[in-house]
Amino acid sequence: MLEFDVVIVGSGLAGLTLALKLAEQNRRVGIVTKRTLLDGASSWAQGGIAAVLANDDSVEAHIQDTLIAGAGLCDEKATRYVVEHGRHAIEWLIAQGVRFTRDENNQTGYHLSREGGHSHRRIIHAADATGKVVQLTLAERIKQHANIIVLDNHVAIDVITIPKRGLKDRRCQGLYALDIHQDQVRTITAQHTVLATGGAGKVYLYTTDPDVATGDGIAMGWRAGCRVANMEFIQFHPTCLYHSHAKSFLITEAVRGEGGVLILPNGARFMPSHDPRAELAPRDVVARAIDFEMKKRGLDCVYLDISHKPVDFVKEHFPTIHDRCLKLGIDITREPIPVVPAAHYSCGGIVVDLKGKTDVRNLYAIGETACTGLHGANRLASNSLLECVVFAQAAAADIMEQTTTATTPLPEWDESRVTDADEEIVISHNWDELRRFMWDYVGIVRTNKRLQRAQHRITLLHEEIDEFYRNFRVSNDLIELRNLVLTANLIIRCAIQRQESRGLHYSRDYSDTWPAAQNTVLLPGAPIILSY
Ligand SMILES: Cc1cc2nc3c(=O)[nH]c(=O)nc-3n(C[C@H](O)[C@H](O)[C@H](O)COP(=O)(O)OP(=O)(O)OC[C@H]3O[C@@H](n4cnc5c(N)ncnc54)[C@H](O)[C@@H]3O)c2cc1C
Repeated sequence: MLEFDVVIVGSGLAGLTLALKLAEQNRRVGIVTKRTLLDGASSWAQGGIAAVLANDDSVEAHIQDTLIAGAGLCDEKATRYVVEHGRHAIEWLIAQGVRFTRDENNQTGYHLSREGGHSHRRIIHAADATGKVVQLTLAERIKQHANIIVLDNHVAIDVITIPKRGLKDRRCQGLYALDIHQDQVRTITAQHTVLATGGAGKVYLYTTDPDVATGDGIAMGWRAGCRVANMEFIQFHPTCLYHSHAKSFLITEAVRGEGGVLILPNGARFMPSHDPRAELAPRDVVARAIDFEMKKRGLDCVYLDISHKPVDFVKEHFPTIHDRCLKLGIDITREPIPVVPAAHYSCGGIVVDLKGKTDVRNLYAIGETACTGLHGANRLASNSLLECVVFAQAAAADIMEQTTTATTPLPEWDESRVTDADEEIVISHNWDELRRFMWDYVGIVRTNKRLQRAQHRITLLHEEIDEFYRNFRVSNDLIELRNLVLTANLIIRCAIQRQESRGLHYSRDYSDTWPAAQNTVLLPGAPIILSY
């Protein structure tokens, strides 16, 4: 049995920030992470982090931009909280040694870029590899910290909740995690447990997310009794490279910004017939148009063509994309790039307050796993990394204020009634089936019929995987599939409830938007409630 003051599941930006903040205050911290310290969406972030840093920018302007993107569903308190703490979050990262791109001509000393939906230049970045630079810097500090133990190649299975004496509610006291190398489940005791497991993009066939994004934290929180909200709002990136050997490679929107056109296999442009802004329409409009054309014509992909631009221009502006595609046999200076839209970001998640607290005592959720209210029905670009840092810092402050209580000895993981799985094919088959029907039925454009089909299938899958889980020894794939099925179920339930089109949820059966915005909140074991 391992014991920490705080155990954090996940080593993305949210998890690492929290670990460092707590360790600075002499807390003994354990980080449980599925693979290596650097696996996660945070390391893949390209654009940067939004924060009000320039003199001509203002907190009010950033708040307004966020509220507009969120289509009436942002929680104004949470939005103000995050935006007001933006400068402090960036200063903390700089103090940790993060080397953002400099610009001595800018009054801040840093280069600030502007992204879609932002009224000002406010994206601080490290060239086009912000996430990697930030994560490498924080990881170095983590390794040097005596108060932090990293348990890599450990997959958290479930948090452990114990009834509090004399009270009806339960409190979290740690978790079970599968040590992949030892093939053994460990019991980890902690005063506080934090879910920082990132998103759930792997629910879908196409995603820009890394393999670790299987919705584990959301599923664990739900099973422990937390409310989950707004799961229907999945942001799809319009252009992800479509190639059997290229997993999750984003083709930046700048290609369209620089004149790239979207075409069908026969070379015909289709965006002008969908929106007067054609290829320059917002992300969700372009993603919907591509989805429409693919479904209508039964296509595997469409194409993004920038080959009409001079060769030097293409190479100079898009060196990474050019190199990556060339390695796969696609010369983007001469031919179009095959692309599909892909699941990119989950706006919903475990409901938390402004301190990252969930409904279960001593259990917190931060980062993409949480639903703080910041993103509403659509995420404003580059707000998510900011949210990771701000909420990690808020959770750290709250945890530091708590008095420590005696821990109860926890039951060890019981494997006495399970055997080794007889047919691994059940897992791989169900994994494929799930991701395919979620893509086809609960993707960018939804209809009642498609959602009902998805619900029917998910119920069957749920039963099958549940039975498998009860009878066989856990493995990484089984843990992930169990969580994917539950997360997909939560997405479908939320999507069925939202009988309107708003933000990222678009239904062909309900094209109107309700006059009053309401959150979709799911409570374990209770009927769906709207607004929290
Ligand atoms: C390609 C791409 C580009 C992006 N660009 C930007 C950008 O420019 N700006 C921006 O603001 N946002 C961007 N985003 C979104 C942003 O990167 C994520 O929202 C953010 O990094 C999430 O951070 P996190 O700490 O919550 O989770 P992650 O960074 O995803 O980390 C999750 C961690 O949890 C671990 N984990 C998961 N399940 C378990 C388990 N069961 N047991 C143990 N460990 C587990 C994972 O291994 C990982 O370490 C981008 C996302 C992608 C995919």
